[in-house]
Amino acid sequence: MYVASIDPRNGEVIAKTKSSTAIDVREAVARARSGQKRWWNGLDKEDRIARMLELEKVLIAEKSSVVRLASLETGINQPTIAASYDSAMRGFSHYIGRYRALVDREYPLDQAIWEHTEALIRYEPHGVIGHIGVWNYPFWQTMITFIPALLAGNSIVFKPSQHSTLTGLRIVDLAHQAGIPEDVCVSVVGGPYVGKVLVKAPVDAIAFTGSLATGKHIIKNAGVKPLILELSGNDAGIICADADIEQAARGVSTGTFSRAGQVCVRVKRVYVLKEMADQFTSRLLDITSRLNLVEQVGPMIREESRARVDKVVKDAVAAGSKLLIGGKPRPGPGFYYEPTILIVNNDDLEVIRHETFGPVCSIRIVDSEDQAIELANRSEYGLGATIWTQDMRKAMSIAERLEVGNVWINEWGRSLNCGDYFQGCKESGIASSQERIMLFMKKKSVVTHHGVEPRKVWFC
Ligand code: NAD
Repeated sequence: MYVASIDPRNGEVIAKTKSSTAIDVREAVARARSGQKRWWNGLDKEDRIARMLELEKVLIAEKSSVVRLASLETGINQPTIAASYDSAMRGFSHYIGRYRALVDREYPLDQAIWEHTEALIRYEPHGVIGHIGVWNYPFWQTMITFIPALLAGNSIVFKPSQHSTLTGLRIVDLAHQAGIPEDVCVSVVGGPYVGKVLVKAPVDAIAFTGSLATGKHIIKNAGVKPLILELSGNDAGIICADADIEQAARGVSTGTFSRAGQVCVRVKRVYVLKEMADQFTSRLLDITSRLNLVEQVGPMIREESRARVDKVVKDAVAAGSKLLIGGKPRPGPGFYYEPTILIVNNDDLEVIRHETFGPVCSIRIVDSEDQAIELANRSEYGLGATIWTQDMRKAMSIAERLEVGNVWINEWGRSLNCGDYFQGCKESGIASSQERIMLFMKKKSVVTHHGVEPRKVWFC
């Protein structure tokens, strides 16, 4: 069996890579376990940091080649990939700083009850992380696991998405070139089947990014293991009556149509206040009509994804939504879909209720901010939301009421340092209050009794 890497701009096969078998996956996990135990976790903190700094150097030197490859197999344009590459690279200094500051913590004990006793909270790596990747941020989304997980002393078995296999394998290769041992950073190749085998294998934690449907399979198959899940989103954008129209229309258009709308935190549902609706819609339409489909929007990843989006749009139009622009695939080679704007007045349509992973902006005109918040929260997803207003007090109060993990005010989609605190709630992920490096560590409590006598209550 092979994984075919395809250029979405023309549908041509670029390469075929042999898929891993179930035996390969289990061997990869065994190797990663031995590498982690044998020496990666045994290195002292500064030695491990030094190796990660080598990796940083190699990745800086190889940036243009990785960006070219990632762009070729995902169809995302090079400047867009390069920007998220830089953002990921900032993770090295950020996570190294956090890791250096992390020390075992003394736990305060009431000496009246715990005489001659002390307690320590230690932070330790999970062991082997099974990392299942996604294609739409082929470098960034890989590094938000690689950097903190490796720093913390874990080894990784990485299965890149079948749509970004070449980039994934290249990153692993560069890690080896930088001196991270082959049995600490191990790759396997394949699609859903290989992912499923990895989830069921004896790894110590799973770090997964992808769809909600796959996330639910993983929850069912993983058994008792920590799960770090970054899942689908259906982000609302709320355009208040006092929004700066230029900022809102340009922000929403980029947040909706870049990467052909294949972004987890894309602005997918727009709730615009009625006072602002005409102005906002006509400026958004103006920008959209001038977008360059090839250079700025880009293709969808596969024909099936494009067909799915087309069906959702056609169903919405058949149910009475007004199509302002787009609404069809571009004829000819590649998987391009025209940037599409719909005015929707039915909250039960698929295009509103579920994530549409494509260049489609659904606009719903609302009477009040309360109504916008209510509709935004009427969703099983809770990844992100954007708010457009010039009134910061109002913005903070809306942010507080939105049931999501990430809120952007007059901004969209920019994450904190290399994915730190980036997470969804509800069905978009397992919400955690922890900074990201802590997700790759477990806590161990160690209680030491310093008394020389056995405790009085012990059997004798
Ligand atoms: P997908 O779930 O189809 O695939 C993601 C990965 O899971 C791939 O590597 C795939 O091979 C693997 N996989 C598929 N079935 C599996 C199974 N049963 N067991 C184990 N692994 C399996 O996702 P996709 O359609 O390629 O990616 C788009 C989705 O990812 C969107 O829903 C998007 O919102 C989401 N996403 C979320 C984030 C986030 O940070 N929350 C970031 C990027 C993308």
